[in-house]
Amino acid sequence: MKDNDLTRRQFIAAASAGSLAAVASKTLPAYANIGKKAGKLAILGGRPVRTKRFPGWPIWDKNTDEELILSVMRSGVWSRNKVVAEFEKKYAQLMGAKRCIGTTNGTNALLTSLHCLDIGIGDEVLVPPYTFIATIDVIFLCGALPIMVDTDPETFQINPERIEEKISEHTRAILPVHILGLPANMDKINAIAKKHDLLVVEDACQAWMAEWKGKKCGTLGDLGCFSFQNSKNLPCGEGGAILGDDDRIMDKCYSYHNFGRPYGSVTGRGNAILGTKCRMAEYQAAILLAQMKRLEEQTQTRNENAKYLTSRIKDIPGIIPHKLYDGVTRAAYHLYPFRYKKEHFNGVSRGKFLSALTAEGIPCSRGYGQVNKGDFFASSKEFVGFNRLGQCPESMI
Ligand SMILES: *Cc1c(COP(=O)(O)O)cnc(C)c1O
Repeated sequence: MKDNDLTRRQFIAAASAGSLAAVASKTLPAYANIGKKAGKLAILGGRPVRTKRFPGWPIWDKNTDEELILSVMRSGVWSRNKVVAEFEKKYAQLMGAKRCIGTTNGTNALLTSLHCLDIGIGDEVLVPPYTFIATIDVIFLCGALPIMVDTDPETFQINPERIEEKISEHTRAILPVHILGLPANMDKINAIAKKHDLLVVEDACQAWMAEWKGKKCGTLGDLGCFSFQNSKNLPCGEGGAILGDDDRIMDKCYSYHNFGRPYGSVTGRGNAILGTKCRMAEYQAAILLAQMKRLEEQTQTRNENAKYLTSRIKDIPGIIPHKLYDGVTRAAYHLYPFRYKKEHFNGVSRGKFLSALTAEGIPCSRGYGQVNKGDFFASSKEFVGFNRLGQCPESMI
């Protein structure tokens, strides 16, 4: 297994014009020269490099975790109550934020945040296109326009050098996404926001425990949003949270997420302000409290593994690992991104490369597509009636 592994690495390292394409087309001449030990690629019927399955996700402890959920069930109190409050307190502490509000999911955490910062019709929000669709959805759902700022291909994050050229008289906020769990350049983003008097809402839905200069992602802007969906590093099936230090804004977020009922500085009779309902349930919080105990160690493991992986693939021509900005003191590594340059593999397509990798027992996804080129994007522009406002700048995409 180990031998096989090594020789395949040598093979990939040695793959230059001709060899991998030959492999892909099943003719194998250059590949055969590397030596018998390399064996056949799994995609061509050889033995996979890895036969052991990757660990499943999520993981939980049969005794302690299941007991926590059962105790919620047996209490008969399933809606937002003490367990959610306990989670909020602990998560705020862990992240270094003054306050935390649990929500049904990350999408609603983002929507609540934008709404409660008064971002709405006629406003523009600067956002990277390389993200999960929910980031863009929520801007449209507020009645605002998402304005795309190019991604820095080396870090996969919003390119701070390209932000200012997209600022207009309608711009209200920057919505950086710490996509894949790698921090965006928050020093530059916050400096631009300050200079132009813009709000910053962090989409930290993939960045639990990630840090910029020792401070946690999600605590670096006006509000920070998290997701605890099943696939995430801190999972509870569906769940989300908002972090913030400003009591007035957090009171408003709390009220909004609870039908607009009075809360703290939000006063009035009955339903004080317009609201929705996206409260976290006690079950969600119980699972999160259990999962949170493992998060520090898991984050450490993810960082160590990522470092090791980088050290082993960085010298392979055509494989370009992501870069972290200098200010990153820790990443969350929800995913580990690298770029693939087919020129170094004699034009073998990315899809074919991914199929070959998967066949070797190494799962690898193709990443996010072009959200701003999707049908939903075009129809949303019509739906929200931006044309009526005469405000549908081509610069948004
Ligand atoms: C998961 C995710 C969301 C949405 O969170 P949900 O909990 O699925 O609603 C938003 N933005 C990013 C970047 C995400 O990864």
